Amino acid sequence: MSKRHLFVFDFDQTIIDLDSEFAMVEKYAPDLYKEYNGDLCVKDHWIEFNNYIYTRIVQNGYTYEDVIKFFHSLKLSPNMEELFDYIRKNKEKYEVIIITGNNEQVVNIVLSSHKIRDCFDHILCNKSIRDKKNIFKITSVNEKYEHCEVDRPFLCKSLFFEDFIKDKIDKYDKIFYAGDGTNDFCLSKKLGKNDVIFPRVNYSLYKILFEKDGKKEIKAEIIPWNNGKDICEYIKKY
Ligand SMILES: [Mg+2]
Ligand SMILES: [Zn+2]
Repeated sequence: MSKRHLFVFDFDQTIIDLDSEFAMVEKYAPDLYKEYNGDLCVKDHWIEFNNYIYTRIVQNGYTYEDVIKFFHSLKLSPNMEELFDYIRKNKEKYEVIIITGNNEQVVNIVLSSHKIRDCFDHILCNKSIRDKKNIFKITSVNEKYEHCEVDRPFLCKSLFFEDFIKDKIDKYDKIFYAGDGTNDFCLSKKLGKNDVIFPRVNYSLYKILFEKDGKKEIKAEIIPWNNGKDICEYIKKY
């Protein structure tokens, strides 16, 4: 059997068009922006901070069900349907995974409501539960992934990926990686010259690569994207 390609997707601002956590704050707890002087990128205790957001949402009069309803309303990035249609039709060529610091509930709801769950083989993400007080709550999938100097306190996708790929690196002939954020840089640096990274045009990863010289640290080919069609056209060559 010939080797497959491994396609790694980020979730927020890649599969879905916006960042679900920040969008939820805007909708249900905009008062948090005032409390944090407009900057919600809390540098420590990211998971605790997320849970603080969910507690605040309930204090503001919304429910667990509102959070779930919000997850159902999230839209895909432009032309992502086309990319996933192509992947589905050629699934024998691709193993497809998501690596995200977001939670399993939002990922599963988005994939099911857009009918693209069948395109994915594995979802590597944080956990979520409904707690005793009926509040949405997230927990770390494994705290060892939060120990990267660069990405702390966020989940390090490289550490997560290394665990996933060990013992199976020979299974794949090429790795594709689509992402947008600063937390996609660490893993981008780990990919080899036969691999391809797709940074979303004018988002953080793209700016690190092209405006802050991050490109020098990348061995993989870099193909910027604006919509799913750009990625789709490119991967058709392989
Ligand atoms: Mg992202
Ligand atoms: Zn890292």
